[in-house]
Amino acid sequence: MDRTELNADYGYGLITERNTDQNKNQSMRDSPVTKNYKCRNMLHLAVENSPYAKVLLSAMKSSGCSVFNDRHFSCEDCDGTVSGGFDATSSQIVLCQNNIQQQSHMNRVVTHELIHAFDHCRAHVDWFNNFRHLACSEIRAANLSGDCSFSNELSRFNFGLKQHHQECVRDRALRSILAVRKISREEARKIVDEVFDSCFNDHAPFGRIPHSRKDAEFAYRDYMNRDRYYANL
Ligand SMILES: [Zn+2]
Repeated sequence: MDRTELNADYGYGLITERNTDQNKNQSMRDSPVTKNYKCRNMLHLAVENSPYAKVLLSAMKSSGCSVFNDRHFSCEDCDGTVSGGFDATSSQIVLCQNNIQQQSHMNRVVTHELIHAFDHCRAHVDWFNNFRHLACSEIRAANLSGDCSFSNELSRFNFGLKQHHQECVRDRALRSILAVRKISREEARKIVDEVFDSCFNDHAPFGRIPHSRKDAEFAYRDYMNRDRYYANL
């Protein structure tokens, strides 16, 4: 897959092929060390402090998936406006150090890509041949990562009714698929529509749509208490 195909992405892409050595050389040449350091520092804060990331990492750990560590994350320079991607062949999450400037953005990208990693781990996703699998994970990532949360939408001057959350999720999933697969918009829309209801309602491992940090904190608390009795017996 040519990286330029990711240019039209909404900010996320499923990266299918990357020449890591080349990328490393490029980031050494083009970017100051500080950009990479800043990216890794924000990543560290996201993993340590974001309740969204903590739910996903805990869930992956208890599903027996390899727990993400430094080796599974890579801060790199990316083309266009891409913010990040999940490389399914190496199970590596790419964070675009040239396009992520704020901690809140980093938190969302890490969460979005961890949802793909979680799906990859639990569902044996066939990213390359089954468009329905890809569509489902993109719907879940848009729905659960906060990509379509109210404050994000507000900043895009797109606020509206509750129904709008669904439209935002549908739209972002569609754009993500079109960014990484050569299919028509109509074809992609049909696939998204076919799987939308079941994937939109699959809130694992959050148990709800975490619309805010508070929601995500509750989800984390519930997740950590999932094996306990609800009351003091
Ligand atoms: Zn995605």
